Amino acid sequence: MYLKSLTLKGFKSFASSTTLDLEPGITCIVGPNGSGKSNVVDALAWVMGEQGAKSLRGGKMEDVIFAGTSGAAGRSPLGRAEVSLTIDNTDGALPIEYAEVTISRTMFRNGGSEYAINGAKARLVDVQDLLSDSGIGREMHVIVGQGRLDSILHATPEERRGFIEEAAGVLKHRKRKEKALRK
Ligand code: ATP
Ligand code: MG
Repeated sequence: MYLKSLTLKGFKSFASSTTLDLEPGITCIVGPNGSGKSNVVDALAWVMGEQGAKSLRGGKMEDVIFAGTSGAAGRSPLGRAEVSLTIDNTDGALPIEYAEVTISRTMFRNGGSEYAINGAKARLVDVQDLLSDSGIGREMHVIVGQGRLDSILHATPEERRGFIEEAAGVLKHRKRKEKALRK
């Protein structure tokens, strides 16, 4: 399983539809300050169901929608943000019968989010279920934001093990085991 491509349209600074094709292995995004590198990471978290405006570095959820730019080449604000993430699933890591899975999220200024999995309308919980065993997804420590590195370096060994277990997708099983032992 690996991330194949990410398309942003009306998301934060990406007014025009922009697709990043990714390869297996390591991807580096380089660019000047304020050019949108962190916005790409925000888009990844958002399409996987992130619900916290703060985690997306905004004040409210609709701050992810392109707000317009001023100046001669300025553009008007847009009414919606759309992000699609295509994941290669030829190894079947995601519990779905497709070799390629595209998760999409759309949000309008006046309302909530719509999700789709391979073009079929889906709920947030469907997206979460699809991703939860894979070690990627919402609130997982797979995404380490700017400034978060310090807190991880200063974590206790127990906390650090928690991060790794969560990323590896075993935390869920440990919690289940602890619950069973308490009974
Ligand atoms: P740094 O190297 O400083 O970390 P960066 O490449 O990570 O920079 P980002 O934080 O991704 O930069 O991008 C910040 C830019 O995105 C700012 O110019 C900001 O105005 C713009 N931006 C954020 N949200 C929106 C929005 N909703 N509409 C338009 N532009 C936006
Ligand atoms: Mg940044």
